[in-house]
Amino acid sequence: MAGTSVVPANRGRRNTMVDDEKLVFETSKGVEPIMTFDQMGIKDDLLRGIYQHGFEKPSAIQQRAVRPIIEGRDVIAQAQSGTGKTSMIALTVCQIVDTSSREVQALILSPTRELAAQTEKQILAIGDFISIQAHACIGGKSVGEDIRKLENGVHVVSGTPGRVCDMIKRRTLRTRAIKLLILDESDEMLSRGFKDQIYDVYRYLPPELQVCLVSATLPNEILEMTSKFMTDPVRILVKRDELTLEGIKQFFVAVERENWKFDTLCDLYDTLTITQAVIFCNTKRKVDWLTEKMRENNFTVSAMHGDMPQKERDAIMEEFRSGVTRVLITTDVWARGLDVQQVSLVINYDLPNNRELYIHRIGRSGRFGRKGVAINFVKTDDIKILRDIEQYYSTQIDEMPMNVADLI
Ligand code: ADP
Ligand code: MG
Repeated sequence: MAGTSVVPANRGRRNTMVDDEKLVFETSKGVEPIMTFDQMGIKDDLLRGIYQHGFEKPSAIQQRAVRPIIEGRDVIAQAQSGTGKTSMIALTVCQIVDTSSREVQALILSPTRELAAQTEKQILAIGDFISIQAHACIGGKSVGEDIRKLENGVHVVSGTPGRVCDMIKRRTLRTRAIKLLILDESDEMLSRGFKDQIYDVYRYLPPELQVCLVSATLPNEILEMTSKFMTDPVRILVKRDELTLEGIKQFFVAVERENWKFDTLCDLYDTLTITQAVIFCNTKRKVDWLTEKMRENNFTVSAMHGDMPQKERDAIMEEFRSGVTRVLITTDVWARGLDVQQVSLVINYDLPNNRELYIHRIGRSGRFGRKGVAINFVKTDDIKILRDIEQYYSTQIDEMPMNVADLI
């Protein structure tokens, strides 16, 4: 996989939130930041892969959480969006697997197919010099290919819960050597929609399992249930009022009526295409509707949601990642985890249905210290929802200025 990394070498600005040592974490006793990858006890060929991939210095969360994870501790790791959590999963998994064996030793579960695939790619990129075998085990793909890959032997599986469970039940995915389970976007994975499926997988895993949870948002109700399946976890948490990134400027545009949103979006189109932009709607139908309407008005946009065939989703992802398309209209399938560094603008055409989603959506921009702008379209009755979000995260959401394009 050399040279085919989904994540281009890092360029662009960084803000201090990524690696500021003063960053306020609430950590368990004994967690000390380790300031370089060299000092983490990482195997040489993996270190080479990390540097080759363009990582020079560990981010704040990587400084704190890599060590306990590779020492085998259960870990709950929270940090702001785009600060290297998923990358940390990739690199720790590479460290803990024994590549002389052909058994699956680590399992990563993610809420969407695109995120599971992105993580697989990142493992293959970082682990290039250790010849790691990873497989993305995700819905919508050929079962035959899953069986072939798994029977051939892989060290790591990065998957979505349904397909992973299916492969375990068929005994194609053998679990006896799995020592580490990581739930990326873990609050989503442990929420109502996914919890039963996760438990279904968990039942098949060995009893001495190491479990790690990773997310930008970890509401209390999630933290409270961790004692059921984690042992004395190391906790690295971020206070709510530290969760929004300074690098992402947040604005709103007040519209009196729903159908004014469309004109507002058209007016912003030139701004959208300065780099790349993601526009969120709350339903698949609305994504389809808005896409069509934009196209009727001769704007070039692409669209993605969960009702599309996986082949089409893959093609759209590929075009957007490569920059062939610049404006993506989508649902919350895109809210979490996906990393396209060129995205510098996020539009909430509809406000998200909960506070966590707000953080994840706007976090599609401003990756790893880059600048970002988020613009919320709000109808009169939505204003109080936005004010609630603003207060909850102790952040600032101002009226959009005329010169918004200058901020991108
Ligand atoms: P998160 O999961 O916290 O949202 P990611 O792991 O997706 O963040 O990383 C965001 C971006 O930052 C990715 O493009 C990734 O390649 C890059 N990145 C992660 N860690 C580092 C690092 N230590 N140095 C440079 N870039 C990094
Ligand atoms: Mg992530």
